[in-house]
Amino acid sequence: MVTVCCTDQPSDQSPYVGRFAPSPSGPLHAGSVVAALASYLDACAHGGSWLVRMEDLDAPRNVHDADRVILQQLQALGMRWDGEVLYQSRRLSAYQQSFDALLSLNLAYPCGCTRREIADSVLRMQGYFPEGERPYPGTCRSGHPEGRQALSWRLRVPEGQTTFQDRWLGVMAQEVDQTVGDFVLRRADGIWAYQLAVVVDDAHQGVTHVVRGEDLFSSTARQIVLFKLLGLSLPTYLHVPLVTDEAGQKLSKQNGAAAIELSDPLGVLQRAWLSLGFDPLPIRDVSQFWSAAIPVWVQGLSRANLHGIHRRIYDPR
Ligand code: GLU
Repeated sequence: MVTVCCTDQPSDQSPYVGRFAPSPSGPLHAGSVVAALASYLDACAHGGSWLVRMEDLDAPRNVHDADRVILQQLQALGMRWDGEVLYQSRRLSAYQQSFDALLSLNLAYPCGCTRREIADSVLRMQGYFPEGERPYPGTCRSGHPEGRQALSWRLRVPEGQTTFQDRWLGVMAQEVDQTVGDFVLRRADGIWAYQLAVVVDDAHQGVTHVVRGEDLFSSTARQIVLFKLLGLSLPTYLHVPLVTDEAGQKLSKQNGAAAIELSDPLGVLQRAWLSLGFDPLPIRDVSQFWSAAIPVWVQGLSRANLHGIHRRIYDPR
């Protein structure tokens, strides 16, 4: 096993805390490795610490042993995390506490709408189905209809634009109340929603820099809204391009992306590196990979994304 310690790298004394937060719904594939690589490189480049958090709240999606396999894969790639791995399934009372805080500020309310009803009212209001997410039309905002049972709990999203500077994509803005609407904090099946848990945990773990795949980019404004309402310190964000298959589809566990090949960790790292837009590194093993890659990353992200193919207009949905 090759281990490279982030804190071996020159430190600028900054309190950098990065993290990688996989969902154990399957082993890492070529796409998730890019997110892990970028986040690890960035932590090393800043002389920071790097945490691993298992986002295992969505129990029906968890795959037995996937957490152990993911950790093995990270180790084989030479990525060493600091401290204990945090499992979200052990943090339920923390989510409850933050939820209660929102409730006490009248910022959370029960919703009795089914998905079908939401889709129908969006259709009535807009006359068409928007691409991707359907904004919640606010049906239960001032009380859910008589005789209806609360299914989920939603955040009362304040009006206004949320802006943030993405370290890769530039300045971004989204009106969460308009484009997403009051989003779910606790799902109808009783599971805490990703948006709430990720914010509570990033704050709990003192994460200062979030580096992750562009698929989560559209969640960022929602998370910033929650950070602010809960009075928590915001991290900075960097979203890296997604790896797509030949048909242009994002690689994902859901569409059957293959687990990375542990027999060739260097090949895995090199391919992930190339997909970030860097030139190949003339190296022979995993430990050389990190020694060569970290200084290149330090030189700045202007070296990355050389082909410019990933810049695109922000679609708030
Ligand atoms: N658990 C999420 C995933 O595997 C990542 C969450 C995050 O990085 O914010 O897609």
